Amino acid sequence: MACKNWNQNGASMTKNTGSHQNPPDLDGNTFKLVRFSELETDGKLAWYFFADQCRHCLEPPCKDAIEGYAAGGAVQDEATGAVYYTSKAKEAPFEEVKDSCPYDIPRKAANGQLVKCTMCIDRISNGLIPACVKICPTGAMNFGERDAMLALAKERMEKLKTKNPKAQLLDADQVRAIYLVVDDPKKYHKNAIAGLNHGIVHKLAARFLRAPASTRVQTAASG
Ligand code: SF4
Repeated sequence: MACKNWNQNGASMTKNTGSHQNPPDLDGNTFKLVRFSELETDGKLAWYFFADQCRHCLEPPCKDAIEGYAAGGAVQDEATGAVYYTSKAKEAPFEEVKDSCPYDIPRKAANGQLVKCTMCIDRISNGLIPACVKICPTGAMNFGERDAMLALAKERMEKLKTKNPKAQLLDADQVRAIYLVVDDPKKYHKNAIAGLNHGIVHKLAARFLRAPASTRVQTAASG
C-alpha cells in the first residue's frame, strides 16, 4: 500500500481464485507484491512469502534492451544504482524488455508506459528511504549503502543457518535488492533467483553488432 500510495498507482481489478495470492501478479499498477505459495513437504504444509520487486541489477539487462531502441529510456542512477524508466521507454518493444529481465519484472501500464519499482528514486534522492522500507512495521527490510547491507545480510544469514541450514542470499553479487531466504528459493517463487532467457541475450547481442558504431550503447555481459 505504501508503494501504491507514494507512486499514486490505482487498484487493479482481481478475483478470488481460492488462494491468498491477490493480486495474482505484478502489473501496471503494482510495482511490488508478496508472492504466496503453499507447499507440502513430508506430509506437512508450509507457507512461503516473497516480496517480489525489481532487484536493481548491478548490470541491468532491461536497460540494455530499452536503450537499444530508445536512448535515455532507462536510467541507472550513479549515486544510488537505482534503475528506472523514463517516458521514452515505451518506444522499446515491451515483450523484449520483459523477456530481458531475469526476474520477469517490467510491466506495461494502461497508458503504454513501461513501469516497475524505481527504488523510490524521488524519495532517496531527497534523503528519504523507500516507502516500503519506511512503512514496514516489522523492520523486515533495510535500506542503506550496499556494503553495509551486504554485511548485515551475511551476519543475519549466519545466525539463521543454525536452525535453517538452507538459509541463503539470492544473487547477492548481481543485484542491489538482496533477499535472504531460509529454504530452496524455487519454493518461494519461480523467479526468486535469476533465470536467463538466452533467446533475448542473443537478440541483444545481434542488435548491438548491427547498430552503427556511433549509436551503439555500451553493454556489459551479465550472468
Ligand atoms: Fe531491470 Fe529486471 Fe534487473 Fe529490475 S530486476 S533492473 S527490471 S533487469
